[in-house]
This record gives sequence, C-alpha cells and structure tokens, in this order.
Amino acid sequence: MKYIGAHVSASGGVENAPVNAHSIGATAFALFTKNQRQWSSAPLTKESIVKFKKNCEQHGYAPFQILPHDSYLINLGHPEKEGLDKSREAFLDEMLRCEQLGLDRLNFHPGSSLKKISDEECLKRIAESINFVLDKTKGVIAVIENTAGQGSNLGYKFEHIKMIIDNVEDKSRVGVCLDTCHTFTAGYDIKTEKGFLETFSKFDSIIGFKYLKGMHINDSKKELATRVDRHDSLGKGFLGIDIFKRIMIDSRFDDIPLILETPDETIWADEIKLLKSYV
Ligand SMILES: [Zn+2]
Ligand SMILES: [Zn+2]
Repeated sequence: MKYIGAHVSASGGVENAPVNAHSIGATAFALFTKNQRQWSSAPLTKESIVKFKKNCEQHGYAPFQILPHDSYLINLGHPEKEGLDKSREAFLDEMLRCEQLGLDRLNFHPGSSLKKISDEECLKRIAESINFVLDKTKGVIAVIENTAGQGSNLGYKFEHIKMIIDNVEDKSRVGVCLDTCHTFTAGYDIKTEKGFLETFSKFDSIIGFKYLKGMHINDSKKELATRVDRHDSLGKGFLGIDIFKRIMIDSRFDDIPLILETPDETIWADEIKLLKSYV
C-alpha cells in the first residue's frame, strides 16, 4: 500500500498537522514538532499531545504513516565539542518529543564536517551521536536522510549512510529516508528507467531496503550531480514525471510515508491526487 502526503504546517500546535494533512487528501504526513529554526521551544503540553493523538486516530494516521523532521540547526557530526554537545541535546529533545507523541521515527540530515574534520571522522561522530540518543530513548527510529551534498554536508553517497549504520549499535532503531531531489543532484541518475533500476539496486546492496523508513518526493530545480538542494514541483524540474510513476508502481516503496516537500503548497492536494492515480 502507498501512503502519500506532504510536510504540513504544525503552526498553532502539533495537533493541527493531522488536520492539515487530511484537508489535502494525504494518507501520510511530515511535521516539525518544534520551531525548526530555533534551538529551544516550549515543551509539548499534555493537551496538545492528547489532541494530536486523537486527531491522528480520527483521520486514520498510524505512526508508520508519519515522518517528523528535526530542526535544521542540529549537526550531529559537528567538528567542535560545543556545537556537538548542543546538537546532541537538541536531537535528544526531538526524539523525546516524538516518543511523547507516540511516533516511531524521526527524520534528520546526517551532519556536516564544516571542512574541519575528515569525512570519515564526521561520519563516525554522527553514528556516536545516534548511539548517544538511542541509549536515552525508546521506540523511535533515527532516520538518516540522504543529502544533495551541498557545502560540506555528508550523506550524499550510499556508502556514507552505510558507514553511519555500521557504527550504530542498535540497528533496529536506525533507518533511511531517500529524497528524490537529493539523490539526483548528489549524482545518481534516477531520471531514466535504467538509472532508476541501477540506483535502487545499488541502494539495496549497499544499505538494504529493510532500512528504508520514508521518502521525500521532490522534483529538482538543478541538474544531475550539481550537489545543490533545490526542490521543484512534480514534473516541473529536471527529474520529470516518469520517476514518480515508477515509484508508485514499485512495491519496494510500500508501507512507508512518501512525503512531498515541493515548493508550491497550493498544489499539494493535486500532486497527491496525481501520485495516487499512478498507483
Ligand atoms: Zn528532504
Ligand atoms: Zn532538500
């Protein structure tokens, strides 16, 4: 079964996210559980937690259909102690919020070396950060998102993600989210049928589909291997529409949240309808 939605607004409280998702015909959704541009936010209130769970139940969203996203400020591979400690504490807080909301996964960008440490050192740090947080929480899977490789961001190669997973102690609580735009601009030519098949068989042999816990469904404003992260609406960018048709008929992408992060939210309902029509 395919579960399709978008990264919806949680403004006014997390309990509004499932309502917003339902209003665009989504069967999955993503949200921020706190302000994504600030280090600290007020704790979730009991009322908000109860309403969130009630609204999810009412609109038919089980935890596996929901993919919360962490704050953009967090860098779990930070080269300096202060930044690393701050990031780990903030990530722990994000995981605890997911736990409180009864969610089972949290999507995050792996981290950046800031060109001050080697890629290998940075990837090890990221894995240690995940171990630190998994140790203090329960039930929530840390879901590593592949990146476009912009700047000094790691996680743009499947081998990077494999190296992180290899160094995580509890493999049952680590997963991967593939973003179609990031995959393409990182250099994997998923646009053609041949490239699509090759890329995902590479993904399966290097990482394994059993780790796939979500997808970000975005077209790309930039060309193959440009290492730039600019999403476009489906069919409007360099990826074109065929890849999204392929995903919709491929059972390897069943039973995980498939989330639009496309720039024009006024057409999300149409994009969801379009994707559903391919299934
Ligand atoms: Zn993404
Ligand atoms: Zn992106």
